[in-house]
Amino acid sequence: MISIKHLSKTFKNPGGTTLTVLKDVNCEIDKGEVISIIGPSGTGKSTLLRAINMLEPPTSGEIWVDGENITAKGYPLHKMRRKMGMVFQSFNLFEHMTVLENIIYAPMKLLSLPDDQAKQEAMELLRKVGLAQKADVYPSSLSGGQKQRVAIARSLAMHPEVVLFDEPTSALDPTMVGEVLSVIRSLAKEGLTMLIVTHEMRFARDVSTRIFFMNEGIIYEDGTPEQIFEHPVHSATKAFVNRIQKLTYEIDSDAFDFLQMETEIKQFWIKYNLPDKVDVAEEIAIDMLHKHLKAFRPLTFRLSYTELSSETAMDFMVEGLSSSPITDPSVLDGIRAKARALIEEPTAKGFRIKILL
Ligand code: ADP
Ligand code: MG
Repeated sequence: MISIKHLSKTFKNPGGTTLTVLKDVNCEIDKGEVISIIGPSGTGKSTLLRAINMLEPPTSGEIWVDGENITAKGYPLHKMRRKMGMVFQSFNLFEHMTVLENIIYAPMKLLSLPDDQAKQEAMELLRKVGLAQKADVYPSSLSGGQKQRVAIARSLAMHPEVVLFDEPTSALDPTMVGEVLSVIRSLAKEGLTMLIVTHEMRFARDVSTRIFFMNEGIIYEDGTPEQIFEHPVHSATKAFVNRIQKLTYEIDSDAFDFLQMETEIKQFWIKYNLPDKVDVAEEIAIDMLHKHLKAFRPLTFRLSYTELSSETAMDFMVEGLSSSPITDPSVLDGIRAKARALIEEPTAKGFRIKILL
């Protein structure tokens, strides 16, 4: 359905310098495929999506859609854009139009759908994304997650053959990521062809037929979710998919903002969907920070989560100390009883207590 051949994109900056963002991208995308594009930031993922629907015309190379070369001079781009929907990180809804008006605008104008039919289809789409009750409100009264679901409904209203998503959940509060991902999941089940740039690794693994790992302006590795996540060939892919999400705090005085830390930790648990770990983690963290290690400063506290293996760890490091700050064995036994493991280790920076949950 889409065939990309030797695609490259070089930006010319005003100072005369150039930046080659896409070097030599080649791929074939079949109808019904759900492809997640993952990779470090700045590697050209957004540029690739924007090139595919010619928002960012490539410097060289070709893009073929349904057997037509859309990069050919004079190709009528409106024809191709009708086949492709795009959902952006920042929703891009029309703020002065109601939800329903947002959805019917393009189909009425570009597909010349009669008013009744456009409205009826829009209501069906709103039901599909769970927002039928919001048809007559303005976007400003919606949450980020709801706005993004409207944006998805709006792109579907054009009956696209493929929908391109550019980090659809990156601008959302962590509590709202799930509702948007579940809408995308249901579209995948219906067989809609989608290209999704995302940082949500577990989602990518669950929903995709194929994964493109982009790195340094090329599709560095391409394979099924199993190949990319379980048996990556290249070390860069391996490092990326096994990356660890972290929150780190340097607590150097009693004036430290513990409340803000607690809020961020709560969001972290929600974002990585770890409800079973929350209570025990919170209990241990509070005991450690406010009781057992209260007198030790500076102290580095780190919460980390390895997405692929679902391993959660908390570590507490007291700088400049070479032996354990906790000398009472019953305290350590109490923690061991609640956690999977407790590791005490001296490091170059200080003494670390690592707790695996
Ligand atoms: P990603 O989506 O993987 O984070 P992008 O495709 O957004 O990466 O950007 C890749 C590189 O291209 C970045 O260094 C970015 O600054 C640069 N870039 C993107 N768009 C433009 C532009 N219009 N002009 C100049 N440089 C750009
Ligand atoms: Mg991007």
